[in-house]
Amino acid sequence: MGLIPSETMEAVRSRVDIAEVVTRYVPDLRLSGRSFKGRCPFHQEKTPSFHVNAERQTFHCFGCGVGGDVFAFLMKIENMGFSEAVERLAERAGVPVSWTKESSGAGGQERRELLEALAFAADFYRGCLLQSPRAEAARNYLASRKVSAQASEAFHLGYAPGGSEFHAAAQKKGLASDMLSKAGLISMKGERPRDYFFDRVMYPIRDAKGATVGFGARTLGDGEPKYLNSPESPVFSKSRVLYGLWEGLNAVRRVRKAVLMEGYMDVIAAHQHGFPIACAPLGTALTPDQAALLKRYAPSVAVVFDSDKAGQTAAIRGSAVLLTAGLSVRAAAVPSGKDPDEFLHQFGGQAFKDECLAKSESPDQFLARKLLAAAPKPLTPETKSSIAKEVLALISKVPDEILKSEWTKRLAKTLDVSEDALFREVGRTPAGRGAPQARPAPAAAPKAVPAAFFPSEDAQILRLIFENAGPSAPAVAESDFISEAGRNIWRAFERVRSEPSWPARLLESLEEAEQSCASGLLVEDGKSADSDKALEVLLARRRALRRLREIEPQIREMGAGKRPKDAALQEEYLRLCLATKRRGN
Ligand SMILES: [Zn+2]
Repeated sequence: MGLIPSETMEAVRSRVDIAEVVTRYVPDLRLSGRSFKGRCPFHQEKTPSFHVNAERQTFHCFGCGVGGDVFAFLMKIENMGFSEAVERLAERAGVPVSWTKESSGAGGQERRELLEALAFAADFYRGCLLQSPRAEAARNYLASRKVSAQASEAFHLGYAPGGSEFHAAAQKKGLASDMLSKAGLISMKGERPRDYFFDRVMYPIRDAKGATVGFGARTLGDGEPKYLNSPESPVFSKSRVLYGLWEGLNAVRRVRKAVLMEGYMDVIAAHQHGFPIACAPLGTALTPDQAALLKRYAPSVAVVFDSDKAGQTAAIRGSAVLLTAGLSVRAAAVPSGKDPDEFLHQFGGQAFKDECLAKSESPDQFLARKLLAAAPKPLTPETKSSIAKEVLALISKVPDEILKSEWTKRLAKTLDVSEDALFREVGRTPAGRGAPQARPAPAAAPKAVPAAFFPSEDAQILRLIFENAGPSAPAVAESDFISEAGRNIWRAFERVRSEPSWPARLLESLEEAEQSCASGLLVEDGKSADSDKALEVLLARRRALRRLREIEPQIREMGAGKRPKDAALQEEYLRLCLATKRRGN
């Protein structure tokens, strides 16, 4: 037997929602705060202690200690092997499984180097936009599109001069050319390497953790294409990221809603006018992966695309993808035939809210209205039939049976046709997956998970690290931990922290007892306002205490005259006592 490539597992993870899988076995699973709670399927209990964290895609039971990712859940509950669990979920998600002889994919080290190169590029382009005399046209372009300085900063917009200016700067910084090429920043095709982006406005694309994974780039001249994305790389897949999601993630998390738009400029305009919950696919049709990503943070989405025919068609297609993924969807049109960014700049955020979002419709109604408006009057039975089929095709994507039936009834009224005929037609549309089979919990009592020594001090550090797994988190050292479990979890985290599904990868790489400690921390809900600062304070105090214990014996010996006085050491001792609020002796 070979191995399942990590890309396959990643594709499955990004498309399957753990809460949805768990609900089949835990019917009482309910959203509580940002995580789901229900009665554990692995042990008998009256009050729910089984938690699922949708954002991190992990579960943990505080009763019996089991925890893990979606694969671990299926393995345990169905009593199946790892590869079988992956295959089962892959099939469900429509991901083809291929087997390889060896493991492949970007290792953690390579990933880190690629992200470093991309981060350097983003800063380089930003610097060019702000300072380079050659960026005059770029600055004028952004001004003409009414991008504020604040928005330009928030989105870290930049300018790529081209030639080999970026390559030269990157080499000076010591970044290897093959990494730069792999990250899609330079092209090695000609005689000499040259910059991939030439005379373009640069829009850094950041993943949901804030790491720059690629760029969107708009030409300033007549060059084709008008918009160019970074090529796909081990860290960048344009079908799996949403532009603007990270920049507005705090707001999206708070309201659990998002506005899906079409382009970079729409998203920037929306953020600038008070809608930080706006995001967009990267100039391509919305994909199931992007829908699944959005669903983790926002179960409810309003789709607002351009007013032209292409935009409206894309809005319907996007709605269908979102509906299929089980999101609640509204579709809205921008009044007076404008594009969203034009409208926002001309009329402002309040008008956008009142005249666009507030008038949004359920996608079936949105589509039916469009089709009816375009149809020749009076409506012939043939026209009605073709409109009905088109709207029913959209309705068939809805996984919720009740909703499907209600929408069908509504369509019958709108078109003045018989409900029965429509229901028979729905029955014929390839509606996709059948209803999930309920399954009794496994009868076998699981063995309890062994407990590891895991003091709360270590849990506290790890909790804060997990909350901000981004690149800006303060550096932690092995010596900051008291327990072996704490150190092991931290070491495992360091290896996977830059990967998109790091929580799952972390749990996967730990032994059972430590896995349980980690999954317990991961399902916790709650995001402190400033986890970086809190971690800094915690570490400083921890380190001060350790140093204090180290020098205390020497201070005592000095006091007893057994050791020559050392003023510097005594001063350090007093300072440490103050810092840790301990009285000196
Ligand atoms: Zn349990």
